[in-house]
Amino acid sequence: MDKQQAQEKIKQLTTLLNQYNYEYHVLDKPSVEDAVYDQKMRELRELEEAYPEFQEPDSPTQRVGGEPLEEFHKVEHRIPMLSLANAFNEQDIRDFVKRASQGMEEPISFVCELKIDGLAVSLTYEDGKFVRGATRGDGTIGEDITSNLRTIRSIPLTIRENETLEIRGEAFMPHKSFLALNKEREAKGEEPFANPRNAAAGSLRQLDPKIAAKRNLDIFLYGVGEWDNSNVTKHSERLERLKELGLKVNPEWRKCDSVEEVMAYVQYWTTERPHLDYEIDGIVIKVDDINQQEKLGYTAKSPRWAIAYKFPAEEAVTKLTDIELSV
Ligand code: NAD
Repeated sequence: MDKQQAQEKIKQLTTLLNQYNYEYHVLDKPSVEDAVYDQKMRELRELEEAYPEFQEPDSPTQRVGGEPLEEFHKVEHRIPMLSLANAFNEQDIRDFVKRASQGMEEPISFVCELKIDGLAVSLTYEDGKFVRGATRGDGTIGEDITSNLRTIRSIPLTIRENETLEIRGEAFMPHKSFLALNKEREAKGEEPFANPRNAAAGSLRQLDPKIAAKRNLDIFLYGVGEWDNSNVTKHSERLERLKELGLKVNPEWRKCDSVEEVMAYVQYWTTERPHLDYEIDGIVIKVDDINQQEKLGYTAKSPRWAIAYKFPAEEAVTKLTDIELSV
C-alpha cells in the first residue's frame, strides 16, 4: 500500500467506525458484529501507527463511546470515564503484563475480573445517599439516568456509611430477564433485542423510568471515580470496601501474582462462561497497586494499567470469513 492509499484507507475506516460507534453507543442498535468492529479498529490503529501524519482529528482510536443523547440532562465526569485497551490472544496478555512490570521496583500483582457486557454507569452517593447516576457518554459528558437506575433493586439508595463517593460499574440484563423480555416483545409483534447488552442500554436510556423498572436489570460495581479514601492503596481493597458499603461487586474477581495465574483465570472463564446467568465478553486485567497504576498512567482513551481480553466470537468468526473485511 502506498502513502496515498494509506491516507485514503485511514479516512474511510475513520468514517465507517464513527458510524458504527454512533449506531452502537448512541442508538443502541449496532449493524455489525463486535468482531467486525474490533477487526476494523485494529486495522485503523495499525495504519495510524505506520502513518501518524494521516490520523484524522475525529479518529475513533482517540475517543471514548458516543455523544450523549440530547433528551437527557448532562452530567460532567470530573474524572473521565475511559475505555480499555483490548487484548485478543495470549500473546497480547503476556505483552501487557511485561509492559506493566517494566521499571517497577516492587513486584507487581494483578486483579482479574469478568468483563460484564452491559452499559458503563457512574453512581454518586452524597453523605451515604444515592443522588445521581449517569452513563459514560463520551467519557467526559454522560446522560443523567438517575430515575432509571433507581429502579435497579441491587443499587442501594443508602450505603452503610455516610460517605461521599462516585463509583463505576456495569448495569446489565441477566439472561433470564433478556429471554423473558424478547418473548414478550415477539408476542406483541415487536422487534426482539439483538443481545442483553443492547437490551440493557436501550432500557436505561429511556425517558420513562417505568420501562427500566419492568426490565429486571442488575449491576456490578468495579471501580471508583471521585473518592477521598487515600488510605486504600490497592484496587482489591477498594473492591472489598465497596462490598462492605453494601454495593454489589462481582464475587468472581481474583488476585493473580503471575502471568501464569492470569492465564489460568482466563482459561477457566473461557470454559465456564456459558454457565453464568449473565453475559460476559471477556476478562479485565488490572494492576492491583494504585501507586503502580499512577506510575503507568493513561492514554487519551484508556488506562495503561488495565487491559480487556476479548473472547473470540465463534459465530462472528464464521461470518468474518464470508465478509470482505476491507472497506
Ligand atoms: P470495551 O468494551 O472494550 O471495554 C471498556 C468497558 O468495559 C468499560 O467502559 C466498562 O463499561 C466495561 N467493563 C465491563 N466489566 C468491567 C470491569 N470488570 N472492569 C472495568 N470495565 C469493565 O470498550 P468500550 O469503549 O466500552 O466499547 C468498545 C467495544 O464495544 C468494542 O471493542 C466493540 O466490541 C464494541 N462496539 C461494537 C460496535 C458495533 O458496531 N458492533 C461499535 C462500537 C463498539
